[in-house]
Amino acid sequence: MRQGSCSCGQVTYVARGEPIVTAHCHCRDCQRITGTAHSTGAMFAVGDVTLTGKTAEFELPGITGATVTRTFCPTCGSPLFGKNTKMPGFITLSLGTFDDLESFTPQVAIFARSKPTWDAVDPSVQSFETQPAWSPGDGV
Ligand SMILES: [Zn+2]
Ligand SMILES: [Zn+2]
Repeated sequence: MRQGSCSCGQVTYVARGEPIVTAHCHCRDCQRITGTAHSTGAMFAVGDVTLTGKTAEFELPGITGATVTRTFCPTCGSPLFGKNTKMPGFITLSLGTFDDLESFTPQVAIFARSKPTWDAVDPSVQSFETQPAWSPGDGV
């Protein structure tokens, strides 16, 4: 079980079990939302995450035709998690909002085509130019 919170502490959460996948995403939306070159997120089943506190969200069209919903803290703006209509029943929590960052090992990097040269990723992480055909049931 892992815990996390936004920057101001108004929103907290608990995630049970191990993430389905932990990934870096270098897409332009993640760059704008995080304010840097990539997001890093851990995907969990919605039922394994309990959230406490008031959140806000907005929707944007995903690159692959899905609708992406981003949920953040309305007070401090911390990006908490994302949902994608192509992966119903799953949410991807922003890794930086967890209390214990060392308890994760990112496995893949996606949308590497928009990764700037100054954003180095561990070469042991499998990298994809866009988003590979993958669903949460496939494993890693
Ligand atoms: Zn907050
Ligand atoms: Zn992204």
